[in-house]
Amino acid sequence: VVHDGPVTVDRARAERLDAADPLAAFRDQVVIADPDLIYLDGNSLGRLPVRTAERLARAAREEWGRGLVRSWSDWVDLPRQVGDLLGIRLLQARPGEVVIADSTSVNLYKLAAAAVDARPDRRVIVTDDDNFPTDRYVLAGLAHERGLDLRPVHTDADDGVDLPALTRALDDDVALLSLSHVSYRSGAVADLAAVTRLAHRAGALTLWDLSHSAGSVPVSLTDAEVDLAVGCTYKYLCAGPGAPAYLYVRRELQEQLRQPIWGWFGQRDQFAMGPEYDPAPGIDRFCVGTPSVLAIYAVEEGVRLVADAGVDALYRKGQALTGFLVELAEAWLAPLGFRVASPRDDARRGAHLTLHHPAAWQICQAAADRGVIADYRTPDRLRLGPAPLYTRFVDGYDALDRLRELVAAGAHEGYPAEPARVT
Ligand SMILES: *Cc1c(COP(=O)(O)O)cnc(C)c1O
Repeated sequence: VVHDGPVTVDRARAERLDAADPLAAFRDQVVIADPDLIYLDGNSLGRLPVRTAERLARAAREEWGRGLVRSWSDWVDLPRQVGDLLGIRLLQARPGEVVIADSTSVNLYKLAAAAVDARPDRRVIVTDDDNFPTDRYVLAGLAHERGLDLRPVHTDADDGVDLPALTRALDDDVALLSLSHVSYRSGAVADLAAVTRLAHRAGALTLWDLSHSAGSVPVSLTDAEVDLAVGCTYKYLCAGPGAPAYLYVRRELQEQLRQPIWGWFGQRDQFAMGPEYDPAPGIDRFCVGTPSVLAIYAVEEGVRLVADAGVDALYRKGQALTGFLVELAEAWLAPLGFRVASPRDDARRGAHLTLHHPAAWQICQAAADRGVIADYRTPDRLRLGPAPLYTRFVDGYDALDRLRELVAAGAHEGYPAEPARVT
């Protein structure tokens, strides 16, 4: 039992929380190659589901190896089928509103371009200055290409988007508001429905990036009347490095919108090989080229697993886990110069927790050498992503215990202060 700080936290409490965890059995559904490794980076690259490894091997052998090109009759509708699975079970979308395609960055470009083209008399794209880099760059590139203005609303790096500031930014010149639902840096959750309402009141379309929320936080696209959304599948959805992303277009908008990359997978009667581009009806028009079949199988397995656990249960566990980490951080790490750089209110946090420390990068490297995988984010932040599908409370306890020990001993001081190519 530890008595340093305002709360008393012992490992037995973490063990009791694990014993009462309704999701505990899901840990057996993912590959744990090294039981001593504490993996707190499920928000960056989710673990490999056991069934995915089997499915990929089987599909490669049978469908590709034996079936060859004949398998395309089964493969060709996968992007929509798996899109529906993801949309209906995890995002509260309706059938035909979600498709798996391309990367998040490319989908963001396609949908943002479609949105500004649908509001030709408006000249402004609004985002926030703490949005994920690819989102800011893609929107800036689009604004540059079309001669539009990008209006970045200032956002507190710890606390998330500020509704009054957004309200001031949304005037009748705004074509599109594009934000992340959960901040990649702090885990702060934006109010999907309230922000979407604000944008609609100003006559703008909304494009949400769900990369850090799908599979960890409830997302109600239909209830919130969201217009457009994108997100990646390799974080909480465990589809593997570089797995294709998804895009969502509200049914009522699909026929009004055109995306700028006119590929043959977005074409009506694709195999008629007609002379001119004529966009397919429905969500298919937002596709471009040949889908990544094997990787979509990995998306399907990951989504199934997450959906079987249930988003509400995952959300509750994510809040409990990060809440537990906050408690430990206050008791053990605050005296060592750490500060919680995420919203403290459980209801305003996604499934990751960020800690500020001036030596965050060095601590991150030292932690990795002591079997704790977290990640470093600017400025001076250590990000802990205890993915609720497979992370235990004892993992959180042991990770913060190791962090405390290494920082108290100054073990991080010998590590390079200059960030590496990948952090
Ligand atoms: C991870 C992430 C992405 C990733 O985009 P890619 O095109 O897959 O590299 C985009 N946006 C957000 C908010 C993310 O968290």
